[in-house]
Amino acid sequence: MRIGFLGTGTMGLPMAENLLRAGYSVTAYNRSPEKVQPLLQMGGKQAQNIAEAVRNQDVVISMLSDDSAVREVYLGNGGVAENAKHSFVAIDMSTVSPGTALEVQKHMNQLGIAMLDAPVSGSAGAAKEAKLLVLAGGPLETYEITRPILAAMSQAQFYFGPGGNGAKAKLVVNLLLALTMQGISEALVLAETLGLSRSNVLDMLSQSSVASPFLGVKKQMLIDESFPPAFALKYMRKDLNLILQAATEREAVLPATSAAFASYTSAMHNGFAEDDLAAVMMELLRQSGYTGAKDSSFNLGL
Ligand code: NAP
Repeated sequence: MRIGFLGTGTMGLPMAENLLRAGYSVTAYNRSPEKVQPLLQMGGKQAQNIAEAVRNQDVVISMLSDDSAVREVYLGNGGVAENAKHSFVAIDMSTVSPGTALEVQKHMNQLGIAMLDAPVSGSAGAAKEAKLLVLAGGPLETYEITRPILAAMSQAQFYFGPGGNGAKAKLVVNLLLALTMQGISEALVLAETLGLSRSNVLDMLSQSSVASPFLGVKKQMLIDESFPPAFALKYMRKDLNLILQAATEREAVLPATSAAFASYTSAMHNGFAEDDLAAVMMELLRQSGYTGAKDSSFNLGL
């Protein structure tokens, strides 16, 4: 199958690389063209615009930042809808609101294009190793036809039913991810204020009943206070916003999620937007009066 791939950012690039490794023909478009370069060395092709990326493809996959990017790329001038001149299957793997997923799908369906929302769980490392989880919504038949493609990028695929349900499932897993990071951060703020060694505490937590692969992945960042973005904090804040919007519509009560949203929002406004989401710890430390690892006077408990 020939695949057009839109959006070769932190996640999209390794996902497209895995499609090439699996033997698919991949033509990629990225708004900033230089980000497609690594694919060319692997036999991928570069499209200069969306029209070129969509032309003659069997499947078009997108991995874009947010709702407005997905609307623009699919429904905007020169976008996928305008260039839907032959039949193909579209799969949007970005994290967007269920409402946007459904709206774009309906628009594409009217043009005769079947579409899935298939966001992923797992960060840049999992994307590189093809160990993502795919959470899909849309017509079952479309899911079954495209499952081998999804499997080339992931270790497991989950089908949640009609269009928009993949996007809903993604909100569920990200709620827990955001609160886990918030919880780890609060535990470390407490440890810091009590004068405990952060790395000792993390070693202990890593062997406790609350140990998790997630804690393992973030541990070194938290010790080093260095947060190269595997999952940018601004995107987790975006997802918390989507989660709270969905909760408000359904009158779900999520008090801890609201508190986490406030933490990620202030972290974003205080310079941590482009850092990994684990930098929310730095914001909570900052709010507690901590000025950095060299701040030996910061032992409120002593
Ligand atoms: P990223 O590195 O910032 O990539 C975003 C991509 O969207 C880039 O290719 C960017 O193009 C493109 N884009 C944004 N606005 C656009 C527009 N108006 N028109 C065309 N292209 C546009 O983000 P990422 O980390 O790969 O995340 C992508 C999606 O996956 C997000 O929805 C995120 O929430 C989700 N996600 C991320 C992770 C993670 O750990 N990173 C995990 C699971 C899910 P440019 O390069 O030109 O800016």
